[in-house]
Amino acid sequence: MADIRSVHALMRAHDRHEAQLDTLRDLLTERLAAARAELAQAPAALRRTHPARRRIGELEAALDRMERGLYGICRGCGAFIEMSVLLHAPQDQECAECRRASERRAGPRRAAV
Ligand SMILES: [Zn+2]
Repeated sequence: MADIRSVHALMRAHDRHEAQLDTLRDLLTERLAAARAELAQAPAALRRTHPARRRIGELEAALDRMERGLYGICRGCGAFIEMSVLLHAPQDQECAECRRASERRAGPRRAAV
């Protein structure tokens, strides 16, 4: 028989998760608006290569993953990405550990160029 207390604990965990997603959705939306405004301010000739353009793409992709229920999952190991990482960079697709590993791999290659 299901333990009522564990059902309540699950529901509370679910509510907490939903609240965190709401916070991150607001953050993504806010940063997307800021990046779009920044791009709109740039001279037309520079817009095609403006760094804000890449940010817009990343933020839109993150909102799209959220719509599809795939948001917050590390593309490296499949674990949930830490809330602290997402609050800092809500478009990130790697957990802290995989990010460090990627940076270690990219390090020597970047230095060699
Ligand atoms: Zn990972």
